[in-house]
Amino acid sequence: MKEKPQNITTRFAPSPTGFLHVGGVRTALYAWLLARKNNGKFILRIEDTDKAREVEGSIEHIQKSLKWVGLNWDEGPDAPGPHDPYIQSQRLHLYKKFAEKLIAKGLAYADPYTEEEIEKFRKQAEADKKPFLYREHRPETLPEWDGHQPLRFKVSELKTYTWTDLVWGELSAGPEALDDFILIKSDGYPTYNFAHIVDDIDMGVTHVVRGQEFISSTPKFLSVYEALGVQPPHFVTTPPIMGADGKRKLGKRDGAKDFMDYEKEGYLPDTMINFLAFLGFNPGGEKEIFTREELIEAFDLNKVQRSGAQWSDDKLDWMNKEHMKMLSEKERNEKIVERLKILGIDLEGVMSEKLCPIIFDRISKWGDIDTFVAEGELDYFFNAPEYEKEKLIWKDSNLAEAKKHLEYVTEILEKSSDKNFDSVEKIKTLIFDYATLQGRGNVLWPLRVALSGKEKSPDPFTLIYILGKMETLARAEKAIKKLD
Ligand code: GLU
Repeated sequence: MKEKPQNITTRFAPSPTGFLHVGGVRTALYAWLLARKNNGKFILRIEDTDKAREVEGSIEHIQKSLKWVGLNWDEGPDAPGPHDPYIQSQRLHLYKKFAEKLIAKGLAYADPYTEEEIEKFRKQAEADKKPFLYREHRPETLPEWDGHQPLRFKVSELKTYTWTDLVWGELSAGPEALDDFILIKSDGYPTYNFAHIVDDIDMGVTHVVRGQEFISSTPKFLSVYEALGVQPPHFVTTPPIMGADGKRKLGKRDGAKDFMDYEKEGYLPDTMINFLAFLGFNPGGEKEIFTREELIEAFDLNKVQRSGAQWSDDKLDWMNKEHMKMLSEKERNEKIVERLKILGIDLEGVMSEKLCPIIFDRISKWGDIDTFVAEGELDYFFNAPEYEKEKLIWKDSNLAEAKKHLEYVTEILEKSSDKNFDSVEKIKTLIFDYATLQGRGNVLWPLRVALSGKEKSPDPFTLIYILGKMETLARAEKAIKKLD
């Protein structure tokens, strides 16, 4: 195997403000793929400097979500490394140290204004129909910082910044994008704008992967890198994920839900990885089902798109089924039996062998089993069905005909030896010619209803196969009695 470069470090830096949704996981995934592809390092960093927005339990929830889909990190809150700790609220000394560097250079100062005064400046700018720029109110002599006021960055050179985004290509923005923003708030916590830069520098992050909402702030970030005398990292902007209509960003209603909901609904982790990777990336070619190893191999920033990527539940279900098919029969059956058990249904030996493949054919995620059970779709496998006798009649046929056909089929089945019941095909052979001759609906409809009580169910041959000879005959006879 050829040696891969080792110098790439990426990070995922979520704020613990609630659950992680697909957008966050996709960002983490691209950062992870980039690191894994290059034999680099992937860091998890928790950005918890906005205490007002913090939601209890989110840090654990974020980690759980990433672990579920196997996005393992080399360094992070529970994986000690050379840049410990990996939670921003525990790194305040470091932001202070970097702030002091800027103060020493005359590039940071204490904000002398009250919030009301700043609000007044903002209102004035609005009335003048001008963008509000704090730097236009910067005091002549820069007030000294005693650690209690907000500390502001002094943007020294008003110029145009040009940078290369590895997805978007060359970008640039003029001085209007630069301002004296807050580095450290009066509560002692740094702002995101400052803290992430300090951390990316300290942690040796080479590639910053994040959403497009950060593009407009990038000139500000670049002015800080410059003030600190540090070369900025590479920027990788991920495309937005659009809702199923392709017009709006994915909203809470159509998929931007708690990522762990997908686990509850019974999607496979490999599906989620495959699906999310393809939301904005395509390696080219027809192949769409990728294992995680294949994705690592195929991942290429040059093939990440700029435009929005469209969400589709149907596609997700299709892809999940494809990944489910890659499981061995034993794994599938175990999973089905386990899911049914949670629902209070215990599948025994032979029944489970026969029923699991039938269930498997009809689902695209494990959670579909819950729906079947809730809708009573599996009841008839365990209990003889209840139904009105009229239900046994096919279209413009009648009671007498239904009875006649059921009696005939019963007779055939009764006479057949047990070994004719060990495959769906053999059972079909016993009945199909007669049904074809008499009209399939006339024969097969009453048979299906007799066995399942339903208009929709697997075909009667499959039902017979699963129920076995004895139970089939018992149910058919019960139907015939009803028709008397
Ligand atoms: N904490 C930021 C967020 O959750 C991270 C942005 C970044 O990756 O730099 O949006």
